[in-house]
Amino acid sequence: MSGMIHSAQWIPVSATQLAAWHGRRVGSTLRLDGPCPACHHTVEAVIQLTGSAFEGGGVPTAGPSARTVALTCACGREHPGQPGEPPRGCGRTWTVASVTDAAGDVVLRPADDPYLAEAAEAWRTARTDDLTRLRAGAEKWTAGIASLLGLLGVLGVGSEADRIAGLTDEGQTAVVLLITVVVVLGGFAVVQGYRAAYGWPQTRVVTSDQDLISWYSSQGALPSATAARLRSAVIAAGTALIAVTAATVVPWLLPSVNPPSPVVKVELTDRSVMCGTLLSSSAVGRVSVRRADSGDVQTVSLNTVVRLFPVEKC
Ligand SMILES: [Zn+2]
Ligand SMILES: [Zn+2]
Repeated sequence: MSGMIHSAQWIPVSATQLAAWHGRRVGSTLRLDGPCPACHHTVEAVIQLTGSAFEGGGVPTAGPSARTVALTCACGREHPGQPGEPPRGCGRTWTVASVTDAAGDVVLRPADDPYLAEAAEAWRTARTDDLTRLRAGAEKWTAGIASLLGLLGVLGVGSEADRIAGLTDEGQTAVVLLITVVVVLGGFAVVQGYRAAYGWPQTRVVTSDQDLISWYSSQGALPSATAARLRSAVIAAGTALIAVTAATVVPWLLPSVNPPSPVVKVELTDRSVMCGTLLSSSAVGRVSVRRADSGDVQTVSLNTVVRLFPVEKC
């Protein structure tokens, strides 16, 4: 039968054909070997019971169990019409019910539930490119995390820091609240958007038919969950945009408190003393004081100052 033509199709399998099969449960894999029901070449199969992928909820059950498994011929022999990519074989796929006992020995019998057969086939094809998809998804998520961190830039609000510092306590509280809203909603929008686009990375253990069904039905529920996530991402992003606009504008609308100018006493080299409020001087090397006694502004060169110190009042 070695010249059998390659054909990618599902074939039914009988108890007699499965009688020559052996299996062991090793860690999180099922290792099965036996003759292909079509080409009769020996096939060795390693079935992953764990899958790391994006999406698919449900809780796995523990212990010895029955699990429907989809197998494909990977006899490694030449079959005319074989495609270039693995597995090399006659192309047939079939479904078996595997029962693992407490000692880890696996017995195979024909699978009779079409829904489970479909779910098992979906699990098999989903496993083949787990790593590629995870890496591609991880790349996208890295960009998502970067934009999440970019949101923290809002916390600086850079040039407005002085203006915010000059606000009343109520004004500062309002600005802090707005910035919190921006960061929380912005972060939520980014995460939900990325979940909708690229899924959520998860590792699943599917050891029983019950696990398989819950995994398969969660795959079916993905479209509506994705739509809900995208919707909430857009709403959150819109609200965050309003909040960031408000956080930018509000500091300029709210009144600021003018801090009292410091009162200083200045002793000069000619033994005279001036006392008053220190003014900000534009001239380098000079100091200006509005005298408390006369109200005049007196400007002196710094090299005539012996001592300058703050006082409560003059
Ligand atoms: Zn073969
Ligand atoms: Zn085969």
